[in-house]
Amino acid sequence: MSKKGQFDVVVGMKTGHLVHQLEVIAAGLQDVAAKLREIPEKYCEECGGDLIEMERSEFVAIKSCKKCGEKFCIQHNAVQ
Ligand SMILES: [Zn+2]
Repeated sequence: MSKKGQFDVVVGMKTGHLVHQLEVIAAGLQDVAAKLREIPEKYCEECGGDLIEMERSEFVAIKSCKKCGEKFCIQHNAVQ
């Protein structure tokens, strides 16, 4: 209830769609996160060129940039 000189603001928010909208956002973010994790294994951090696998062991892969020749030692599943 408002006193003289004040007023109330009533905000009505229907939540029927909100949970579903949040679920869509969460699913989308997981997809984005998975794609972001793939980038260091696929592209050179110096120039953005494609990486080509030169050697592979149980824990690491040696990759070389197709564009600038920089070599990288990339740990498998380094980012979880
Ligand atoms: Zn490069």
